[in-house]
Amino acid sequence: MPRMTASRTANKSATPAKLKEAYRAVQDRIAEAALRSGRNADDVVMVAVTKYAAMDQVRQLADLGHMDFGESQAQQMQQRVPQLEEYLGRKKTLGNASSKDDSAPERARWHMIGHLQRNKVKHVVPLVNLIHSVDSLRLAEELHGYGAKNDLDIDVLLQVNVSGETTKSGVLAPAVVHLLEQIDSMMHLRCRGLMTMAPHHEDPKDCRPVFARLRELFEDCKTSEWTDDSFNILSMGMTNDYEVAVEEGANVVRVGRALFGDGGSA
Ligand SMILES: *Cc1c(COP(=O)(O)O)cnc(C)c1O
Repeated sequence: MPRMTASRTANKSATPAKLKEAYRAVQDRIAEAALRSGRNADDVVMVAVTKYAAMDQVRQLADLGHMDFGESQAQQMQQRVPQLEEYLGRKKTLGNASSKDDSAPERARWHMIGHLQRNKVKHVVPLVNLIHSVDSLRLAEELHGYGAKNDLDIDVLLQVNVSGETTKSGVLAPAVVHLLEQIDSMMHLRCRGLMTMAPHHEDPKDCRPVFARLRELFEDCKTSEWTDDSFNILSMGMTNDYEVAVEEGANVVRVGRALFGDGGSA
């Protein structure tokens, strides 16, 4: 099972206390960045990206009351969603009798943040609350077909390749409004906003223009005739650059390594 190595080797030295400390630190930094941009900490949702985490760490984060989790691979999503659900279900049953200060949520919300292959749609959609990574008309059509067949409304974000680098996935910025128009006619697909991954920079400030550009595009989309009030999610910022992203208007950030370490090499 070579694909599982990242989680198997996840930071063995991590303790619940360390995770708690890292979690609080990330939350504080998000809150400060939100304040700098004239918003409240509550306006920003942090998705804890679990691809480098051990399952124990995922459970520990849920124990701290965290609800939003993200995975980038369909296969790992299929394993972790039921594992966490089972854990939370068990806790709920036991918790009534024993621990009184149990802050774990009853249910988690899962976010698909990585590239979604069309043949994985049927496996992933039933498990997740939001798909961040719609990057083509063909994927949108596949999702809509699944929604229609199962009478489900599916929430998605469009992943935008802001910088235009050919190595990055995502819709190019000039094509976004046209794709929104096409999605507008798909009754079982609801486009909730935009997502991007900034190119890697040593200095996170260098990501600022990419985030500012996505924010501008987001505002343009909001005023277009192809969106309504539910188009309100701007997902940008990862471990290296989430503070800058929040300053530039992100209301969802996706943070992995800052919480869980980077899979053992740290
Ligand atoms: C892995 C991943 C993240 C989190 O990255 P970190 O640098 O670990 O915070 C965020 N978004 C996407 C799409 C990812 O694949």
